[in-house]
Amino acid sequence: MDKVFLARCEDYDYDRVEQNVRRIFDSFGGAEAILRGGKRVTVKVNLLLPKKPEDAATTHPAVAAAVAKYFVAAGAEVTIADSPGGPYNTLSINKVYDACGMREAARLSGAMLNADMGSQVKTVETESGKRAFDLINPVVNADVVISVAKMKTHSLAYFTGAVKNMFGTIAGLNKAVYHANLPKVEDFSEMIVDLCRATAPAFSIIDGIVGMEGDGPSGGKPKHGGVIIGSDNPFAADVAAMRFCGLDENNSPIHRRAESLGLVSAEQEHIGDDAAPLADPFIPAMQDKVMWKAVARIPKPVSRIVGKHFRPYPVITDRCVGCGICAEACPGKALEVINKKAVLTKKKCIKCYCCHELCRIKAIDMR
Ligand code: SF4
Ligand code: SF4
Repeated sequence: MDKVFLARCEDYDYDRVEQNVRRIFDSFGGAEAILRGGKRVTVKVNLLLPKKPEDAATTHPAVAAAVAKYFVAAGAEVTIADSPGGPYNTLSINKVYDACGMREAARLSGAMLNADMGSQVKTVETESGKRAFDLINPVVNADVVISVAKMKTHSLAYFTGAVKNMFGTIAGLNKAVYHANLPKVEDFSEMIVDLCRATAPAFSIIDGIVGMEGDGPSGGKPKHGGVIIGSDNPFAADVAAMRFCGLDENNSPIHRRAESLGLVSAEQEHIGDDAAPLADPFIPAMQDKVMWKAVARIPKPVSRIVGKHFRPYPVITDRCVGCGICAEACPGKALEVINKKAVLTKKKCIKCYCCHELCRIKAIDMR
């Protein structure tokens, strides 16, 4: 049975966050048990795009700092790292660090912020055949990776937590290649499960103090959850988070794949604080609301086939300022900027929602 710690933590007061993170790690045997002799630790945060911590799209700096400090205090060499959406270079990563509060996280913890923009290809054998992942150097070079995720609903994957967080170990715009090659959400989810196993986070922390509901991972609304979740099994941490949010893990294609491979148990041993689900559950993303209403009464195998027809398209609104970030990232080459406004060619769109995810001013709706 998977063991999961739920720590109730109402706000981002740093001392409170640090105390709760310490409770979680201590209950799993502490730094020695988690690091198993490893010295180079990479804290893989979710820094999707340059957003302020209060926007709840990214891992809060207080949580990143508390996790990093725990291992710094144990004598490890700790690096905070991520490959956000869009290009992966020094200019863009510095913008992200500034906006997301990571400089403060590094200062508070004594950890380094990753400045190595290189990557290496790692090939793994999986149930679906060979997969090649172009992974950022701080993940390849680490002895131990810790996934420090944000608790959010997700327009494509239903939910993003510890497992989907590992997609940010893929370098820069190469992420779009995976979307282009795996347009079906079930295939994409299989790849995410394989990636999580390939990067093998030794421990996972989910920042659910304030998560995101609705059209996440960036276009939804911040939602108070008041919890930090920890487990040595990232798949189990996600199940605990979804149940806590009042979401059904069986709607998550990533979870279904993990379950089919026996990577996660149905029953969980909860330790820590009260694990009762939120009285006011998280609202899922638009596509899941549409899917749920439209295909809830259809048998599952059929609903998976017809469900894709109910998935919404991105719609560019008048709020668009023509920055071109969405067009640059679009794996289907379905977007171009014409007269300072993004224009969608529907027949090229694979409904991956990268554009919606990366638009910094929420100029893309889902309809
Ligand atoms: S939709 Fe958003 S990301 Fe795309 S061009 Fe407009 S403002 Fe930029
Ligand atoms: S338009 Fe948006 S949803 Fe469609 S393929 Fe491009 S990035 Fe994906």
